[in-house]
Amino acid sequence: MKNPLQRVSDYFSLGPLDDMHGHRVKLALEIGSLALMVVGAVWVVFLIYSGAWSIAWVDGLLVVLGAVTLVLTRKSRIRSAAFLLLSSLFAMILGMSLFLDVPTTSAPRAVHQYFLLLAFYGYLLLKNELKWLRYGFFLSCMAAFVVFSSTYFGFASQYVVIDDVRVLGAWGNSLIATSLLCLILYIIQSDFVLRTQAGNELTIALLDHQFELYYQPQVDQTGKVFGAEALIRWHHPERGLVSPAEFIPVAEKMGLMVPIGHWVLNASCHQLALWASKKASAHLTLAVNVSAQQFHEAEFVPKVLALVKHKGVDATRLKLELTESVLVENVEEVIMKMTLLKQAGVGVALDDFGTGYSSLSYLKRLPLDQLKIDQSFVRDILTDYHDAAIARTIIALGRDLGLRVVAEGVETEAQQQFLLENGCYAFQGYWFSHPLPISKFDLFISK
Ligand code: C2E
Ligand code: MG
Ligand code: MG
Repeated sequence: MKNPLQRVSDYFSLGPLDDMHGHRVKLALEIGSLALMVVGAVWVVFLIYSGAWSIAWVDGLLVVLGAVTLVLTRKSRIRSAAFLLLSSLFAMILGMSLFLDVPTTSAPRAVHQYFLLLAFYGYLLLKNELKWLRYGFFLSCMAAFVVFSSTYFGFASQYVVIDDVRVLGAWGNSLIATSLLCLILYIIQSDFVLRTQAGNELTIALLDHQFELYYQPQVDQTGKVFGAEALIRWHHPERGLVSPAEFIPVAEKMGLMVPIGHWVLNASCHQLALWASKKASAHLTLAVNVSAQQFHEAEFVPKVLALVKHKGVDATRLKLELTESVLVENVEEVIMKMTLLKQAGVGVALDDFGTGYSSLSYLKRLPLDQLKIDQSFVRDILTDYHDAAIARTIIALGRDLGLRVVAEGVETEAQQQFLLENGCYAFQGYWFSHPLPISKFDLFISK
């Protein structure tokens, strides 16, 4: 059994949550294929024994289908296996309900119960597919189940199974379908619990004051601290300090970035107000990261402006850092929101610049103040010709567009020197300071 810490760490990184889903889908496919082979084989034997030769081959098809999907699953061709299994099963259950398992007054229909199982099975396997496919498949199975449960509809043909066999079949199929349904529901439920648990822990963190802001100094060419970036930290009761890189993607997925982001903005404005009241820190600006989900929220701009007003801070001291991911959807709305912020004096920076989707034509239309060169370009700026070229281009672009360019992830004096020589005059990185809790940050600027 996994230790509790490992379990918690599983919840909180996006990878494992999705890996776990992938793992479950694989498991569900393996169980499904094996169940199909076993059930098919049992029926083949039973039908041959009962003399129903003419229909035993249909159940033989189930065995073949199970074997093929098992091989595909083992070869990690999960999507192909899922599509093959779901579509063939739907067709086969439909065919059996119409032509083989036609109900009479003495023996009910039973094979249609597999539609119920197939509905939930498809719901699980099609989780990452388009909504219309996932829900469409679910609803089609449910509709088929309702129709066959409520009617005697079917075609009399040479293939209709005799009542004696079907009475036994009704027991067998009902038992198998209900047991497998329980298994599927258990898998779906554990997937849900895992996600809710991660969401619950983050909600508790918010209510229980487990978040804290760290501040990383931003320095100009003379070595003077002109501002800081606020970086959230989570004091997890069991795991200690958790990095935002780990929990923010999960919070985004749970839709929790809006309340968490609001907490960050509130704490940041509070800090700006405190700094403004002291001479040594009154000049500082504070950069706050804003996630795409938070920025796209309808009330985002009014909320920010209300906070600034409520805390009585100078709006020009607040800089919002957006990543290029906000530009993926609805650029016109983004431009409108940025313009409103700018009119109120709030600055906007494009974070991790060069790693995302910015198009240069948008760039000139965005009312930005700052570009931040992503640390991945700064890291090898002295050794990698391409990284150096990209950094130089970003600096030139910023200069031409009248934007301040801040280099992130500066770890050595040589990196700073290179950037300086190429016209970048604002820096942030371990070379100057790691992100610090507020008491240490205040000490840092007082030196
Ligand atoms: P970011 O905004 O690009 O922040 C810079 C990250 O680089 C920080 O990681 C910082 O600790 C790290 N860093 C700073 N200097 C150096 C250096 O010299 N070398 C290296 N290797 N790393 C350096 P952190 O604090 O783990 O934050 C990671 C990301 O999480 C941030 O990247 C930001 O995108 C996000 N984030 C942090 N706080 C918040 C928040 O309050 N709201 C939102 N939406 N996102 C946040
Ligand atoms: Mg940032
Ligand atoms: Mg960054």
